[in-house]
Amino acid sequence: MRPPNDNLAAALAERIGDRAILDVVESVYAELADVVAREQPLCRRSGRCCNFAAWGHRLYVTTPELVYFLSGWPAVAASAASAFPGGPIAPPADPADAALPDACPLQSGGLCTVHAIRPLGCRIFYCQQGWDRCSRPLYERLQGRLQDACRTCSLPYAYVEWRASLILLFKRGLISPSPTRR
Ligand code: SF4
Repeated sequence: MRPPNDNLAAALAERIGDRAILDVVESVYAELADVVAREQPLCRRSGRCCNFAAWGHRLYVTTPELVYFLSGWPAVAASAASAFPGGPIAPPADPADAALPDACPLQSGGLCTVHAIRPLGCRIFYCQQGWDRCSRPLYERLQGRLQDACRTCSLPYAYVEWRASLILLFKRGLISPSPTRR
């Protein structure tokens, strides 16, 4: 896996709002939501799993998910700005000086500020013991659908670390601490 780079940012910026890509991502998220509704895995809503360093895992995202995230960002960030004190928390301004933050910078007070546009990995992760027996093959299949969507929609495929992606999007001005400034 390569780190996200400027070519990726440019490819994403070109496809913001692309209906064909958004439809596939929505369908993937809907399929997952159906499984979650049926299986009802346990979530303790602690938000601790969004602290990747403490939890000992990492979150990776695909290109179509990033297009979906960017497409929904203005509306979601605007509503988060009123729902969460200080609004969505942006990545550090100078990531060159900083290691990846331990936790997702979009969490505030233990809650996700971008719930409607969070990636597949966030949607599928539950702390219930044994859930991974169901979630692993499901994740692989849904990720495969996102990969297929790149072929059909002529979108470069990438599978990139979430915090590094946010920093890239922030550096390229595709997201900002204040949604009104985008
Ligand atoms: S996007 Fe939301 S759910 Fe996903 S890691 Fe960040 S705060 Fe947690």
